[in-house]
Amino acid sequence: SVGALGETWGDVQKAAGAMERIADLMDARPGIAAPAVPKHLPVAGAGEVEFADVTFAYPGRPDLPALSGFNLRVAPGERVALVGPSGAGKSTVFRLLLRFYDPTEGAVKVDGVDLREADPAEVRRRMALVAQESPLFSGSPAENIRFGREGATEAEIRAVAKAAQADSFIEALPQGYDTPLGERARSLSGGQRQRLAIARALVREAPILLLDEATSALDAENERLVQQALDQAMDGHTTLVIAHRLATVLKADRIVVMEDGRVVEQGSHTELVAKGGLYARLAALQFGDAAA
Ligand code: ADP
Ligand code: MG
Repeated sequence: SVGALGETWGDVQKAAGAMERIADLMDARPGIAAPAVPKHLPVAGAGEVEFADVTFAYPGRPDLPALSGFNLRVAPGERVALVGPSGAGKSTVFRLLLRFYDPTEGAVKVDGVDLREADPAEVRRRMALVAQESPLFSGSPAENIRFGREGATEAEIRAVAKAAQADSFIEALPQGYDTPLGERARSLSGGQRQRLAIARALVREAPILLLDEATSALDAENERLVQQALDQAMDGHTTLVIAHRLATVLKADRIVVMEDGRVVEQGSHTELVAKGGLYARLAALQFGDAAA
């Protein structure tokens, strides 16, 4: 399901206690070993991602690969939108990049280094994730953003909140950035929560951004603000986005269409619509008149 990555994330989160940091949670993934002598990622690596002939089956379903001969190279700074029907393998791509699992065959590389040979902490510092339902904590907005990178200064927190279009609503809270959200965390709108999650990802200053776009409907104002926040976030990052909105797809440098764990088409929106294949059908269904 489209929510599966969020669920995985949520479960790990619950297990480890809500106030622990994402970085620590990622070390607690089962079955993933750090190499005894890790290879260092190139210092100047700008966030290149590569899936080289990746086949992957979940442990519980060895006969039914979620990815089969999957190839994808994302150049530093490139924005790639992953599109495809439910079950195509989009979230699995993210899970392998986050190293929840290792491929059965082939390799996943970041800046040229196979993730199995790399230092997990170094890999983690190169990535930021915005999940569909990013959890918020009862602490303040500042604490929620700092969760992305311990030691971020107040100025840095404000800067990313501005970029993520979250500054105005935070300033309007009784104690601004230091307002204990408490029960209020739940009363923030979906769009406000998404913008806080984007700010949290931005504060990591990681070259690679993974976005699993939320499917929930937003009002027009929040839709506009979230799109602006995503624009800012994608700028200057290698971005892989599981896209559900036409506006996001249109901003991608390349749309990669997945089905049954493979890349079946890729190109621009115009090219793919003209082709009249799977993307054209999905776009007609999902984006309706907007894609016409
Ligand atoms: P998408 O994100 O494109 O909807 P997924 O990557 O979540 O697709 O799933 C790809 C395939 O892997 C689907 O057939 C799905 O049922 C299966 N799958 C996903 N998660 C698991 C899991 N934890 N265990 C077994 N199979 C899974
Ligand atoms: Mg999914």
